[in-house]
Amino acid sequence: MQSETYIDQEQNTKIIATVGPASNSYETLLELVQAGVDVFRLNFSHGVHEQHGQVIKHIKRINKEHKIHIGILADLSGPKLRIGEVQEDTYLEEGNEIEIVNTPCIGNEKRVYMNYEGFASDVSPGEKVLVDDGKLVLEVVETNSKDRVKLKVKFGGKLSSRKGVNLPDTPTSLPSLTEKDLEDLEYILTQPVNWIALSFVRSHHDIIDLRERIEKVGHHAKIIAKIEKPSAVKNITKIIKQTDGIMIARGDLGVEVPIEMLPSIQKEIIRKCIHYSRTVIVATQMMESMITAPSPTRAEVTDVANAVLDGTDAVMLSAETAMGRHPARVVNAMTRILNEAEKQYVKIPQKRPKASSKSPTFYSDVICINAAKTAEDIGATAIIGLTVSGYTAFKTSSYRPNTRIYIFSEEPNILATLNLVWGVRCYYYDKYTSTDETIEDVVHILKEDGKVKEGDFVVNTGSMPLHKKLRTNMLKITKVD
Ligand code: PEP
Repeated sequence: MQSETYIDQEQNTKIIATVGPASNSYETLLELVQAGVDVFRLNFSHGVHEQHGQVIKHIKRINKEHKIHIGILADLSGPKLRIGEVQEDTYLEEGNEIEIVNTPCIGNEKRVYMNYEGFASDVSPGEKVLVDDGKLVLEVVETNSKDRVKLKVKFGGKLSSRKGVNLPDTPTSLPSLTEKDLEDLEYILTQPVNWIALSFVRSHHDIIDLRERIEKVGHHAKIIAKIEKPSAVKNITKIIKQTDGIMIARGDLGVEVPIEMLPSIQKEIIRKCIHYSRTVIVATQMMESMITAPSPTRAEVTDVANAVLDGTDAVMLSAETAMGRHPARVVNAMTRILNEAEKQYVKIPQKRPKASSKSPTFYSDVICINAAKTAEDIGATAIIGLTVSGYTAFKTSSYRPNTRIYIFSEEPNILATLNLVWGVRCYYYDKYTSTDETIEDVVHILKEDGKVKEGDFVVNTGSMPLHKKLRTNMLKITKVD
C-alpha cells in the first residue's frame, strides 16, 4: 500500500498538451504538469523516435518523483497527403490549370507531385482538392486514371513545399496505416504509452485493424479515433462503439467539412461519446493566439468554456505547447477557464446514460451508474472505485456526477490511462486483503490527502469476493470516521 500526495489538480475536464521543441525538457514538462496538464501528446508527424523516447523517460520520472499518473498519448500521422517540393515563389493564379502527378518532381505553377499513388484512379472530375489547410482550392477537370490529374485553380495563392492536401469529396483507397505509421507503431508498442491516436479514420474497420496489432504484442494501449474526414462523421456511431476514445480533430475536419458544421458535429460527437462511455477530446486552435500572445482571445476563452459545457473529457493544446512562446502560461490560462466553466456545467441538467439490459456488462453498469446517482442523492464527498481494467472509471465518469471520482488500482498503466477521463483522479493501491479493510484503507488514504474529512459520506464500489477480481458488483455508503 502507498499513500500519495498529488500535485493538486482539481478540474474535472482534463488537459492534453502536445510536446515539441518548446516543451520537451524535463523542467518544462514538470512546469506544465504543475500548471494542470493531465496527459502529454507525442505527435509522430514530427520528431524522431529517440526524441519521443527521451520525453517518455522524462514523463515517467515526473510520475515517479511526484507519485502522480500523467498519461501518454502517441499520435500516428496516418495517411496525410502532401505535395512535394516546389520552386520558390510558386503562385497559383485563379482560373489557370495545374497537373498533379504521382512521380516526384520539383513543382511549379504547371505541375506538382503528391504522395498518393492511386490519386488519378480514385478521383473524379468536379471533386475538390484543398491545399495548405484549404487556403488554395482546386477542382478536378480530368484524370487519365493512371498518373496525371488536370485541375483548375478556383482560389489561388502562394504554393509552398510539402503543404498538406485534403480531398473532402474523394473516397480514397489509401491504407489507414502508412509505412511510416507501421514503423512508428512498432516503436510505440515497445513503450509505456497509454493511448494511441489514429489519424484520418474513415470507418470502424480502421480501429479493428489497429486493435489487432496492439493486442498481438500484448500491449495495454487504448485507442483514440481522430475524426477529421466526412466519412468518419457519417460512420461515427460504429466508430464510437469500436474505439475507446474519440478526438474531434478540428484542424483537418474544418477543412474537410463545411466549417459552419463544426459546432454541431462537436456537440453531437460529445453527446454520443458520453452515451457510450467513451472518452472524448476537443482539439485544435483552442488557444491558438497564445502561441505568441500573453493571453487568449475572447473567442478562444468562449470556445474552451463551451467544450466544457458540452461535457468533453479533455481539451487539447497543439502548437501552443509544442512550439509556442510560453507553454506553461497557456496551460495556466486554460486551467483557469476550465475551473470557471465547470461552475456553470454543474447547473446544466444533463441527459445521463442508462444501463442496457442487453449489454454483457449490464450488472456492473447498473452499479457504476447508481454509484454516481447515489452519491449525488446523498450529497457524498467522493465516489471511490477499485478497478483492474479501468471499466468502472469510464462508466462512473460517463454519468458526469457532481461528486469527485477517486479510482484505486494496482495497475500503474491503467491509472495513467484513466488520467484522461473526465473527473477521475487516480491512486495506486495494491493491498487487497479483505473488502472491509480495503474500504477502510482507501477512505483513510483520501482523508490523509485532504480529499474527505470526518463525518463525510462517500460511496464505495468494488468487487466481492476480492480475490476473484470479478466485474464491479458492490455498492456501499460509508461514513468517514
Ligand atoms: C487536427 O487536425 O485537428 C489534429 C489534431 O491533427 P494533427 O495535429 O495531427 O494535424
